[in-house]
Amino acid sequence: MRKVLWLKAENFPPLCNAFPVPPPFADRPRGRAPKWKNALFERHRGQDACYEQLILDTILVIYTARYDVKMVDPAPTSLDRTALTQLKGVGPGLESRLRNLGIHDVQDLLFHLPMRYQDRTRITPIGRARLGMEVLVEGEIASCQIAFGRKRSLVCSVVDSSGVISLRFYHFSAAQKNALQVGLRIRCYGEPRRGRNGLEIYHPEYQFITAVEADVIKEHLTPVYPATEGLQQARLRAIIDQALTRMRRRDSVRELLPAEVRTSLGSMKLADAIEFLHHPPSDVSLEQLLNGRHPAQQRLAVEELLSHRLCMRKIREASDIHLAPAMKAGRDLVRQFITSLPFQLTGAQKAACKQIGADLAIDRPMLRLLQGDVGSGKTVVAAIASLQAIAAEYQVAVMAPTEILAEQHLITFSQWFHPLGIEVGWLSGKLKGKKRDSQLAEIENGTCRIVVGTHALFQKEVAFMKLGLIVIDEQHRFGVHQRMALRDKSGVETRKPHQLVMTATPIPRTLAMTAYADLDCTIINELPPGRTPVKTAVIPEERRGEIIEAIKNACADGSQAYWVCPLIEESEALQCQAAEVTAQTLTGQLPGIRVGLIHGRMKPAQKTDVMMRFKQGEIQLLVATTVIEVGVDVPNASVMVIENAERLGLAQLHQLRGRVGRGAVASHCMLVYKGPLSQTGKKRLAVMRNSNDGFYIAEQDLEIRGPGQVLGTQQTGLMTFRVADIARDADLLEDVRKHSELIRRDHPELVEPLIDRWLGDREHYANV
Ligand code: ADP
Ligand code: MG
Repeated sequence: MRKVLWLKAENFPPLCNAFPVPPPFADRPRGRAPKWKNALFERHRGQDACYEQLILDTILVIYTARYDVKMVDPAPTSLDRTALTQLKGVGPGLESRLRNLGIHDVQDLLFHLPMRYQDRTRITPIGRARLGMEVLVEGEIASCQIAFGRKRSLVCSVVDSSGVISLRFYHFSAAQKNALQVGLRIRCYGEPRRGRNGLEIYHPEYQFITAVEADVIKEHLTPVYPATEGLQQARLRAIIDQALTRMRRRDSVRELLPAEVRTSLGSMKLADAIEFLHHPPSDVSLEQLLNGRHPAQQRLAVEELLSHRLCMRKIREASDIHLAPAMKAGRDLVRQFITSLPFQLTGAQKAACKQIGADLAIDRPMLRLLQGDVGSGKTVVAAIASLQAIAAEYQVAVMAPTEILAEQHLITFSQWFHPLGIEVGWLSGKLKGKKRDSQLAEIENGTCRIVVGTHALFQKEVAFMKLGLIVIDEQHRFGVHQRMALRDKSGVETRKPHQLVMTATPIPRTLAMTAYADLDCTIINELPPGRTPVKTAVIPEERRGEIIEAIKNACADGSQAYWVCPLIEESEALQCQAAEVTAQTLTGQLPGIRVGLIHGRMKPAQKTDVMMRFKQGEIQLLVATTVIEVGVDVPNASVMVIENAERLGLAQLHQLRGRVGRGAVASHCMLVYKGPLSQTGKKRLAVMRNSNDGFYIAEQDLEIRGPGQVLGTQQTGLMTFRVADIARDADLLEDVRKHSELIRRDHPELVEPLIDRWLGDREHYANV
């Protein structure tokens, strides 16, 4: 039986009526037939039909050969698309504020889940309120006056039979002051802090209580939602409650998981799960809820993970039907390059090159992830792929997430390619004026055959003449949509460029499966020979003296060292300041040693200068913030000191440590911590001490940390989930994979609504 494939009618406007496909194409055999494709091109050549039409035709013909194609108009169903303005009190102003939260319709409100809860179901006697615990207290106002301290504030003391507590308002109105009259009963909610005279609550939420209302108390936990400027919790709660009422009344949140998926998960009904999460009963296990392991959360997490995976698969499928340039030539150029290298490729590198070479040679867009531990030599593999594209007269774009890393690549690629007569272009956000214009012109007219840069490469004004390959380093910093944006710049409308994505972030297999469901994967599982494994020591900061000695010795032997001051302050400015202070102190403590400093707030030219001087050995000790985390390659550096190591993720520590151990001399990494260490802290640093294997470390990280961010994608918004946590819910992923295949096969009509529900406002992911 042939599979049914549903396509969105709106994406194929001119052709919906043209079924069945004309006879010469309709019964073409399976697989790719160049003859048939040529016929298609011929058919369009004579007419002035646009390329778009040609692509759509091609897509449809390929599809009809494999599937029964049906067109769907995604009809709005019940709540799914109900406009927000249908709710009481929601006007255009509020609607736009809700949009900032990613809420576009009533269904989105239901899926806007609390990030935490408050327990307002019980009144705590004032005398039993404690620091750091949020409480609901009730009592009589005993006094209310303005206090003149460093800052003027309104202080109101409230008493019950067990004690007294103060409410403090730094922002208050005269009306508010007048309302808080001595003798009135008040109920307030907040977290007590230590004040001058006992406990105080700053800016509590409060309400006055009359005798009649005295025993009206919430039965459920009170949700706290992610909110936005100009939208208060109370307002948001009221709006979401309206959505819930509609859901109950019409019972109309659409169940999208097929019955067989639901039963095999033993999970609850969607409406019940939603209801529960917005208003959990007061006897629920808060711990389970906050850890995201409640069945209601798991029910939603499964659905969310499913929709992500379906979206990725869809991206992949959409990509597969595009054509890419078949880049066959290049053997000679590649051979010439390989013989010019000062080293032999490792077996793993050769295998990776072979696989990538084969991908590039056919006309299906490559989407390949090249995973390899830090220092495994991915760059040279990318260079070889680039040469194959250049030899076939296509352009190459190499993109890195930071300026420093991009510059490193520029240097490396230039050194390698200059002898071959290939000049490497450069584009970053900081490149301005004439230089920028001429670089853009060279990219557009094709004189520039390979360009290295940052995300500046996918800005609007960049247009390639004939882009054939995109290389992206350190994938986790870029989103899927960014990759796709670059791909659309190919300049050759009928062909999409190939993509090679490189990452050193070792990801456990289960996670990789979900995070990179749209990519094929190649792993370099071998380090170049002659490397001495890095010896790692875990050292309390009190033993700084020893560390200084170690640096002295290393520098005396002609080696170089890094000293990393990672983020301990929230702000980048403070972090950089900390690095400056450290550099000064170390300069004093290490007379005769040339200390350099690099951090994120320096001008790009300054950064380049410092990196060059370090590379050339002029700087012996480089004090840095985590800007050096990725990709920096100075083989002569053999000592790495990482301060505040207990605060960093294992993946990040591993990345940092990967900066040393690149030469033949034995390297040392010192993880400096501020004690005392927690049990988990000890375990984690022990993992670092005992292993140099990125994959092992990643798996241990996942195990020790449990809930957490192994992928490190949270900051970038690459894979943000509302309910699911890809590390915490790792145990669901295998099922999710199975179920997503089942849905794709047996319930394709559910794919779009699922993606729409969870990734609706990120649709551009899918429309590639
Ligand atoms: P990563 O995979 O972390 O990006 P790089 O590509 O930066 O690693 O390579 C790390 C270092 O190893 C570079 O100095 C590179 O020139 C060197 N290198 C790469 N391949 C080999 C090899 N087969 N033998 C020896 N050294 C190699
Ligand atoms: Mg690298």
